[in-house]
Amino acid sequence: MVGRIFVFMVFLIVLFGLQQSCVKTKVLAEDIIIPTNVVVPENLPTLYYVDPTFDDHEFEIIQDGMDHWEDKSKGIVKIKIAKWEPAIPYNPDIYTTYPIKTIWKMHRSDDEIVKMFESRDDEFAGLSYGDAVLIVMDHTQTDDRLKAVLVHEIGHQIGLHHIKKKYPAIMNSHLGPLELTQWDMLQFCKFYRCKPGTI
Ligand SMILES: [Zn+2]
Repeated sequence: MVGRIFVFMVFLIVLFGLQQSCVKTKVLAEDIIIPTNVVVPENLPTLYYVDPTFDDHEFEIIQDGMDHWEDKSKGIVKIKIAKWEPAIPYNPDIYTTYPIKTIWKMHRSDDEIVKMFESRDDEFAGLSYGDAVLIVMDHTQTDDRLKAVLVHEIGHQIGLHHIKKKYPAIMNSHLGPLELTQWDMLQFCKFYRCKPGTI
């Protein structure tokens, strides 16, 4: 009997030791992100108005991107989209502080994009600017990439930072994985108080 109790005690000590070493090696959201601005969790559900120059197929891809967020977050992220006829073309002075959230179809040759590229040292396929998301179509190239760019920019819209390159994620600053990964969800759960690994 004493022998059995001893074996059981050793088992408990080993178990406790293993748990401690797991805690020590666990990667935390703080370890993987490159903090940018202040992160404010979004008030969800929310609605984005989509530039009507996206054709029906592209609109479907945007919907797929929103569905991808909803699936992966187990319904925490819920974003509806609607087509909308803007009164005037995109202008950051107006649309970054506009009272509605918008998604714009842009091209490398558009004046606003030319100006933005001149002020940056790399070219981008998407940009999140206030409540406006810009998609530069010439740089998205395929449906999968268009969806990934959208999912990345929505990540910024709901308050996520870039993730360091060594952790493959949609939120890497340059396009890598085309779907949300465990690292994206680790960061997401930090701000939306879910349990990483359960979503
Ligand atoms: Zn980004």
